[in-house]
Amino acid sequence: MTILQAVAAGLENTEKRKEPKKKSTRYFLDGKVADRELKVCNLCRIVWQKHVFNGKTTIKYYDEVPRYGKEKEACPSCCQ
Ligand SMILES: [Zn+2]
Repeated sequence: MTILQAVAAGLENTEKRKEPKKKSTRYFLDGKVADRELKVCNLCRIVWQKHVFNGKTTIKYYDEVPRYGKEKEACPSCCQ
């Protein structure tokens, strides 16, 4: 094997190894974050969640989610 061939093979291997890992990690995180980061606003009593994706922060509000057992934190619209 020449050095070039070895480099090419090495690159190909890393790419093949990286791709499925990335996908499963992302999938796993999505499921976990959804459950963990729900918070209840102690001012307006809405259930809300901070969702960070590609460096952008989105706040989602949930009307129909039970408030029981959620962490209490004032929602961004009450903080303003
Ligand atoms: Zn609020």
